[in-house]
Amino acid sequence: MNTGYTGRFAPSPTGLLHAGSLASALASWLDARVHGGHWRVRIEDVDTPRCVPGADQAILQQLARCGLVPDGPVLWQSQRATAYEAALQALVAQGWAYPCGCSRKEIEAALATTPTSAPALARHQTAVYPGTCRQGLQGKTARAWRLNVQAVQTALGLPAITHWQDRRLGPQQQAVGEAVGDFVLRRADGLWAYQLAVVVDDAAQGITHVVRGEDLTDNTARQILLQRALGLPTPQYLHTPLVLGANGEKLSKQNGAQPLDLSDPLAALNQAAQALGLSAVPTDMATAQALAWWCTEWKPTNSAAP
Ligand SMILES: [Zn+2]
Repeated sequence: MNTGYTGRFAPSPTGLLHAGSLASALASWLDARVHGGHWRVRIEDVDTPRCVPGADQAILQQLARCGLVPDGPVLWQSQRATAYEAALQALVAQGWAYPCGCSRKEIEAALATTPTSAPALARHQTAVYPGTCRQGLQGKTARAWRLNVQAVQTALGLPAITHWQDRRLGPQQQAVGEAVGDFVLRRADGLWAYQLAVVVDDAAQGITHVVRGEDLTDNTARQILLQRALGLPTPQYLHTPLVLGANGEKLSKQNGAQPLDLSDPLAALNQAAQALGLSAVPTDMATAQALAWWCTEWKPTNSAAP
């Protein structure tokens, strides 16, 4: 029985799961189970050059070994180009998306002449685009497609600052136009941008609750703005604490996190559970029993906000 809750885990197959990604998987699985909902898996292989062949199937096997089995079919973003194109065309038809002919160098040069200081860049974030092509390409060749943030906000009567409530971090806000500017929907290399793919797929999979790592918090306002522009519902968001490596930095494939050792799945799950503020279970417990135990302990606020 589904209570109307649908959650998801959306790994990028750029390598195997590591301790950090298992914590995200476990958090989203527990939250779905506790709500009597469905847990879907989506393979975020939209950035094809970064994907490792076979990593998608290997990730699904790693999840299964940990007792985390998706409800319903797995979705591959690499098969979703038609849906992304339709979304882009819907935005273009409203006058809310425009082609951009700027190279990275041209954007940097334009920014160098602007007196604002560029804020530190988070994941999936690039330098604030100065809006050069908003009024037309001026002879340049179209490379990427961008969202006209202000046009969307004005047309829909949305405030310049997007507010949202995180289930763990509390009230959040971002002035998308200032913080990231007219962000990319389709990249200059022809690949679909992460933000567009996520928003289209969350809606297609009927996702009501997004549970993901805190490093992705910064993307939420852009995704909410895109949901509004496309007339799609906004899920509830919960950003979970990151698993830190010995050096105190976030574990990630980029900084060399090791793939999970699943010779002992319970040991890996125990580590993930503790990162989420749950208790470690006895090492001789069956995986299914351990998952059932963590369901009884699970609260979005188990791990206090930083
Ligand atoms: Zn441009």
